[in-house]
Amino acid sequence: MKYISTRGRAPELSFEEVMLTGLASDGGLYVPAELPVYSTEEIASWANLSYPELAFKIIAPFVDGAIPDADLKVIIDDAYADFRHPAVAPVVQLGHNEWLLELFHGPTLAFKDFALQLLGRLLDYVLIKRDQKVVIMGATSGDTGSAAIEGCRRCENIDIFILHPHQRVSDVQRKQMTSVISPKVHNIAVEGNFDDCQEMVKQSFADQSFLPEGRQLVAVNSINWARIMAQIVYYFYAGLSVGAPHRKVSFSVPTGNFGDIYAGYLAKQMGLPVEQLVIATNRNDILHRFMSSNHYEKQQLEHTLSPSMDIMVSSNFERALFECHERDAAAVDSFMARSRSESLSIDDASFTRLREHFDSYAVSDQVTVDTIAQVFDESEYLLDPHSAIGVKAARECWRDRSVPMITLATAHPAKFPEAIIKSGQENEPALPHHMADLFEREERYTVLPKDLPQIQAFIDAQVVR
Ligand SMILES: *Cc1c(COP(=O)(O)O)cnc(C)c1O
Repeated sequence: MKYISTRGRAPELSFEEVMLTGLASDGGLYVPAELPVYSTEEIASWANLSYPELAFKIIAPFVDGAIPDADLKVIIDDAYADFRHPAVAPVVQLGHNEWLLELFHGPTLAFKDFALQLLGRLLDYVLIKRDQKVVIMGATSGDTGSAAIEGCRRCENIDIFILHPHQRVSDVQRKQMTSVISPKVHNIAVEGNFDDCQEMVKQSFADQSFLPEGRQLVAVNSINWARIMAQIVYYFYAGLSVGAPHRKVSFSVPTGNFGDIYAGYLAKQMGLPVEQLVIATNRNDILHRFMSSNHYEKQQLEHTLSPSMDIMVSSNFERALFECHERDAAAVDSFMARSRSESLSIDDASFTRLREHFDSYAVSDQVTVDTIAQVFDESEYLLDPHSAIGVKAARECWRDRSVPMITLATAHPAKFPEAIIKSGQENEPALPHHMADLFEREERYTVLPKDLPQIQAFIDAQVVR
């Protein structure tokens, strides 16, 4: 399978190359040149597969022989072996026809483990085969950093550097990242905000000359295609659990960068009968505003109780624009070039195509905590704030109550105690057993000023030769 850029001016790449690249050289994002499409009978035949077995079915065509099937199976089994629930992605009932897909049973308690546990192992396999060493550099506002570190901590050929804003991530999030002690794992606490971290990572990808000879940077944010690929699996798994493909299903997805919900859109294109895909956002609602009015306009970043969705622009949205413009890369290229400076609209036909697939809803902090309280009152189920936004949006946008509605529960409530206390709970939610000692673990991180040359010099000095 070949991968093409959404802006049409970068070379086609193989799976292996796409995984080792960040942005395409034309600034675009890579997508598969074509998708495999499955019949109802074929999807129905997967109904009894375990999560790793299903993952192999979905993922193998995208990897397309870059890794022999037997090895790919081992990698996938291993990636999901550490999840603390035997179903890996259990579907639990919240109300009549209303379901939650629990995606927080991985090692760092958020859905990003689904992609990053796999990505770390895929990278390690490919790098050993190529006898190549790389450097991962990423910025995090919390969840990506810990999931990436957990996914890559045992990789032989990867040094990983994660930048987080000093004193602006939650204690649980920081501890999860900084208590992984390894000569190849480096946490940099930057004296600045998340945007500063992100910007320095971007500049480092653009000019990698600070790295030791022969090393290149690899991206672990959701612009990396392999992350999206891994996320398609749980849409099929959840759909099959509630009766698809013999009935339709709908999904509500708490999203910021559009990565997770884009995977749901792909599952639909591949044959899963999806009725509705609901984009659930917090007050950083560029996606909801665009879906409501066909105006794409950046606004000031707001800090909310659901920090993992605090974004100003949505990087994967470009992949959706590519699809609704019927893969017209020139149209995407011109939109993205103009989006830096102005508020933008797309043509009516493309907008209509986009709206055929997506509904959207934005949820304030107050409504987020109200929803946590309401659901707890109904069923004693404690939602994390991101998942609460998903449930609220699902209830508001659900058109046909005979179609099961599945909300993606993206994090464990113990990761976000502030919202839980605000919802009226007396105590902070307990961490799961295997993490009960988190706050006693040794931490290691380096505080550095918001200064790119200093940060790059640190990376150069720390990379294991
Ligand atoms: C990252 C994250 C999201 C948003 O994911 P996208 O890739 O932006 O769709 C939602 N919830 C949690 C808990 C997250 O960590």
